[in-house]
Amino acid sequence: MKNIKLAALNGNARTIVRVGDVRVGQGFTIMAGPCSVESEEQTLETAHAVKKAGADMLRGGAFKPRTSPYAFQGLGLRGLKILEKAREETGLPIITEVTDTKDVSWVNEYADVLQVGTRNMQNFALLKEVGKAGKPVLLKRGMYSTIEEWLSSAEYVLNEGNPDVILCERGIRTFETYTRNTLDLSAVPVIKELTHLPIIVDPSHATGKPSLIPPMSMAAVAAGSHGIIVEVHRNPTEALSDKEQQLTHAQFEKLAKNVRGLHKCMSGLNGLENGD
Ligand code: PEP
Ligand code: MN
Repeated sequence: MKNIKLAALNGNARTIVRVGDVRVGQGFTIMAGPCSVESEEQTLETAHAVKKAGADMLRGGAFKPRTSPYAFQGLGLRGLKILEKAREETGLPIITEVTDTKDVSWVNEYADVLQVGTRNMQNFALLKEVGKAGKPVLLKRGMYSTIEEWLSSAEYVLNEGNPDVILCERGIRTFETYTRNTLDLSAVPVIKELTHLPIIVDPSHATGKPSLIPPMSMAAVAAGSHGIIVEVHRNPTEALSDKEQQLTHAQFEKLAKNVRGLHKCMSGLNGLENGD
């Protein structure tokens, strides 16, 4: 690997990213919530549902990087205020995406974790800005990026003095069209081999299909992922973005239970290092 200086390559201890009481990189962290914050009612309803089902963190986009300029772009500041209310009511820390350097300072006032999406993985100005913001950063893998390019992007954040980077494998583009992307689960052990950073998996954007999210979540646990981030909506068919892939509250509840059960079982297996 050229130009990668990540300390873990030199065998340093694993990074555990602290977000309130949550420890990403220790045990198994479940982040869940709607693709987009659409309204206060919708967000609060799902926030309470995922909390009850055992999620550790609430996700929800207020700034949506959409392929089409005519698609729902997110509620912006109003969305962030709704997320703040959801945190107050549930106690769940908030992870939300920031898409523009000019928004980082004020998104930072509302978010507990700043998300950099797949389309911005090589937006170097944005990476430097979130590196300076002083909050943990979830860096999604670019859909066209190699692991080396992804780690180079993580270095942009680390070089600003921010050690709290969580990597997220969310699927890459291949010739396969049945799934929305191809989930590169081998990236999980590769990242753990090469770096000290925690790595989680996004089975929602990786597969684009609710039926595939539970099996790929279980596979993520088996591969040693430190967590998952899953899209959940109170009524997926009415969602303003990614309606095809969001889980219902009931589907998420079942998933969380099974994933926790498997993680517990894996942790008990002799000689298998999983999640820690
Ligand atoms: C998201 O998590 O809301 C999102 C847009 O994901 P990605 O950047 O992986 O497409
Ligand atoms: Mn989405």
